[in-house]
Amino acid sequence: LSDAEGSIEGLERFDSPGKGRGLRVTRPFKLGELLFSSPAYSYVLSVKERGCLCEFCFTRKEGLARCGKCKKAFYCNVKCQKGDWAMHKLECSAMTAFGEKWCPSEMARLVARILAKKKVQKERCVSEKILLLGEMQSHVEDVDNEKREMNEADIAGLYQFYSKHLDMPDHKDLLTLFSQVACNGFTIEDDELSHMGTAVYPDVALINHSCLPSVIVTYNGTSAEVRAVQDMKPGDEVLISYIDLLYPTDDRNNRLRESYYFTCDCQECKSKSKVRSSQSDPIEPEVINNMVRYARKTIREFRASKNLLEMCEQNIDGAIRYGEKILKPYNRLYPPYSLNVSSMYLKLGRLYMGMERHSMGISAFKKALAIMEVAHGKDHSYLVELRKEMAQK
Ligand SMILES: [Zn+2]
Ligand SMILES: [Zn+2]
Ligand SMILES: [Zn+2]
Repeated sequence: LSDAEGSIEGLERFDSPGKGRGLRVTRPFKLGELLFSSPAYSYVLSVKERGCLCEFCFTRKEGLARCGKCKKAFYCNVKCQKGDWAMHKLECSAMTAFGEKWCPSEMARLVARILAKKKVQKERCVSEKILLLGEMQSHVEDVDNEKREMNEADIAGLYQFYSKHLDMPDHKDLLTLFSQVACNGFTIEDDELSHMGTAVYPDVALINHSCLPSVIVTYNGTSAEVRAVQDMKPGDEVLISYIDLLYPTDDRNNRLRESYYFTCDCQECKSKSKVRSSQSDPIEPEVINNMVRYARKTIREFRASKNLLEMCEQNIDGAIRYGEKILKPYNRLYPPYSLNVSSMYLKLGRLYMGMERHSMGISAFKKALAIMEVAHGKDHSYLVELRKEMAQK
């Protein structure tokens, strides 16, 4: 183990007034600067992404090689396959044995991996420099009946599909672990915010919530990267948003209470600026939601069809119109550096390019790029790809 164990340069754990423990910076960080990156303690690829992404490193590419045994897991090469075996073996033979009936939840799959890792990982690992997995909050005593039933179903799935390979802890410890993962898990998303998998990053889980976040978490492979979205001075708390910031204050706080068991008292929540009716063009969140849902569906069809001719042009036009419409409220309701906004510009840009409307495409791409340079860092593979798309004619 390195001598950096128990600390991350430029950061420290502290008692945040009214919030319990938290993370703060001990030196200045500039807009777009990387505070730290953290490998996942455990992670799992979504079943629906199988075949599109490498199970081990989450690289998206064509022609991945599949596991000869189960024929369900796909890898870049033998190296990735070997690297993944300690985790994949939990599922490989079981998937063959159960066939179509193999259906553990993504949560149960992740917990199975955590249990397998805990068995061999006795020391503090590289994802636990300032917070141990076991120290993550569980709120197990706050869990309501509905959630408890969900956890019980997940535990049943864990026994059904994984008991061959795992020594199960007692029921109470399992409930705690599921609650911990529910409160502290991260969904790994790509540049268009499409869900690729789920992971736990104990160090990142130390970061408290604000509706005016000072940092954004993005993903590089299966690692989480935390970058400043505003200039920070020594002593400033590191704050991310746990929820979608599109919604008005009361909605946001309902969501926070429901999933994370607290009420936010950030400046945005105190001033309730998002519900002020004096706005010139107020749009109901529900209307925005419907637009987002429509655009997502159409964009999914568009992406799946590969060949533009297969898709009705009207749908693309509709998606473009919705994208354009959505971006107005998006720009007003989200903070200046938001992945929701960059991903929408990215989708819109790709639709324009698909319709041969290059200058509109480039202009949308530029807006996405400006946000992603801060959130993902200038050298991220998504930016390299995007610059390539912009150079294409
Ligand atoms: Zn790989
Ligand atoms: Zn396999
Ligand atoms: Zn707030």
